[in-house]
Amino acid sequence: MGASFTQITSLAKRRGFIFQGSEIYGGLANTWDYGPLGVELKNNIKNFWWKKFVQKRSNIFGLDSAILMNAKVWEASGHVGGFSDPLIDCRSCKNRFRADKLLADYYNKEDMAEISEGLDAHELLAKLSDYQIKCPICGKRDFTEIRTFNLMFQTHQGVTQDSQSLVYLRPETAQGIFVNFKNIYHSSRAKIPFGVAQIGKAFRNEISPSNFIFRTREFEQMEIEYFCHPDNSLSEFKIWQKTCYQWLLDIGIRPELIKLREHEAKELSHYSQATTDIEFAFPFGWGELWGLAHRGDYDLSQHQKVSGKDLRYFDALANKHYLPHVIEPSLGVDRLLLALLFSAYHEDEVDGEKRTVLKLSNRLAPIQVGILSLTKKQILVAQKLADKLSDDYMVDLDVSGSIGKRYRRHDEIGTPYCVTVDFETEQDQQVTVRHRDTMEQKRVGLDQLGVYLEECFKE
Ligand code: ATP
Repeated sequence: MGASFTQITSLAKRRGFIFQGSEIYGGLANTWDYGPLGVELKNNIKNFWWKKFVQKRSNIFGLDSAILMNAKVWEASGHVGGFSDPLIDCRSCKNRFRADKLLADYYNKEDMAEISEGLDAHELLAKLSDYQIKCPICGKRDFTEIRTFNLMFQTHQGVTQDSQSLVYLRPETAQGIFVNFKNIYHSSRAKIPFGVAQIGKAFRNEISPSNFIFRTREFEQMEIEYFCHPDNSLSEFKIWQKTCYQWLLDIGIRPELIKLREHEAKELSHYSQATTDIEFAFPFGWGELWGLAHRGDYDLSQHQKVSGKDLRYFDALANKHYLPHVIEPSLGVDRLLLALLFSAYHEDEVDGEKRTVLKLSNRLAPIQVGILSLTKKQILVAQKLADKLSDDYMVDLDVSGSIGKRYRRHDEIGTPYCVTVDFETEQDQQVTVRHRDTMEQKRVGLDQLGVYLEECFKE
C-alpha cells in the first residue's frame, strides 16, 4: 500500500522538507515554504532536469526570462481573453469549486474514464446534473450557474495605478521563451530542430488550490519549447512522449505509478494536433504530472501578429522562411517533488519496529552522506571527515542521540549512506558505512572512504 497524504505531510513538516507559509501569523492559505531538506531536494530535481535537457543536449538552450512582462504578451498568448476556470458555488454551504474538477473527482471516484477537460460551461453544468453530483462539503445539490474566472494575478508597475501600468505575474514560463525565440536563434546560431528550456516561478489564482503542494497559486515550472519543421512535428511529439516517460523512471518514479493519457480530439485546443498528459497515481486519484502539448505555430504566429515583428525562421538550405511548430513538455517542480515523496515512501519492519525509509536515488537525496560519531570523543574526527567529504557530497554531521534513532532519522529523510566513527576508529583507522536500503554495514579504511563512496555514487 502506498503512503497516505497525512504520512507525507507530517514527514515533510517534521523533518524540515515543507512548512506552512507565514505559519506564525496563522498561515496564508495554500502557501508553502521549503525547509532545509526541501530546498535541497528541489534543487536536485531541477539540476537533474537541467543536466539532461540542457547541458547534455547540444540543441537545447537555457533561458531565465523576467516574471513581469509587457501586458501585450498575455493578450497575444490568449491568456487575457481565455485563461479562465469555470467557477461554481454551492448555495447551501457557500463553498466555491472548479466545476471541471468536481466532475473529474466524481469520475475518479467512480472509476470512470470520462473526461472533464475541454467542456464548455453549459456542457459542464449538464454533466453535473446528469450524474447528480453533490457538493463535496455539505452533500447538497444546490449549485449556482457557472461563471468563468481569469487566473492571472494582476499588479501595477511603478507609482501610478492606471491601465498603462498594469502587469501580470506570469501564469507560465513558456511565453518568455516565445518572445525570445529570435534572440536565441540568432545569438546561438541554432538550427531547427532546437529547443529552449526554462525553470522558474509561475502564478495562477487557482479557484480551489488543494492537496498540499499539488495545486498551489505560486509554483515552479520546468518547460521546454521545442521548435521543429511542421512536417516533422508529430514524429518529434512521439519522441518527446518516450523521452519524458523515461526521464521520470530515471529520476526514480516507480513505473506502476505513472501512465500516459492521450487527450481525445474534443479536449484539444483548436491549434493543437496532440496532447498527452503523464499522470501520477496520487492518493486522491490519477493527476496530471507532466503536460506534453503539440502547439503548432499558434504562439509564434500570435506574437508575430500582435508585435508586428517577423518571427519566422530562415532555412538557409531550402532558402525559405517559415514559422516552426512547437512541442511543449511542461512539468511542475512542486508536483514532481510530491510525486517523488509518494513514490519513494516505504515502510518495513526491523526487530519488530516500524522503519520508514525514503528510497530516493543517490542523486536526489537531500543529504547524501550522514556522518555520525558514537561518543563525544570522536566528534573531532567526524568533523574533519565532514569537512573533507563536503567537497563532493551534501553531508550532515549528526553527533548526538542514540545511534539507532539517528539511523532511523536518516532513513526517513532518504540519506543513502551513513558513515559512523566509532570506538575502534582511532586504532584501526576504519569507519562503518551503512547502506540505507539494505542496512548492510561495511568497515572501510579512512584512506579508502573517498574511493568507496565514489563507487557507491556511480550510476
Ligand atoms: P491542471 O489541469 O492540473 O490545472 P494544467 O493543465 O492547467 O494543470 P499546465 O498549464 O499544462 O497545467 O501546466 C504544466 C504543469 O505545471 C502541470 O502538468 C503541473 O505539473 C504544473 N502545474 C500547473 N498548475 C499548477 C498548480 N496550480 N500548482 C502546481 N503545479 C501546477
